Amino acid sequence: MKVLLNQAARCIYCQSLGSIKNGGIFILGKFICSKCEQKIVQLSCDAQDYTYYVNGLKKIWCCLGD
Ligand SMILES: [Zn+2]
Repeated sequence: MKVLLNQAARCIYCQSLGSIKNGGIFILGKFICSKCEQKIVQLSCDAQDYTYYVNGLKKIWCCLGD
């Protein structure tokens, strides 16, 4: 899978447009912006957002068959 550094992509969490150049990451072809990535990194298991983000990641795993 080829991903260009400045390729614009939509974040699977907040739907904002970003790119790797702007600090975002691709996980299995799905884009996560820098803001949401930071949030995930800082999450603890009892965090309010935890379920939200875990569900988002499940979305990625579910898309693997595409
Ligand atoms: Zn985002």
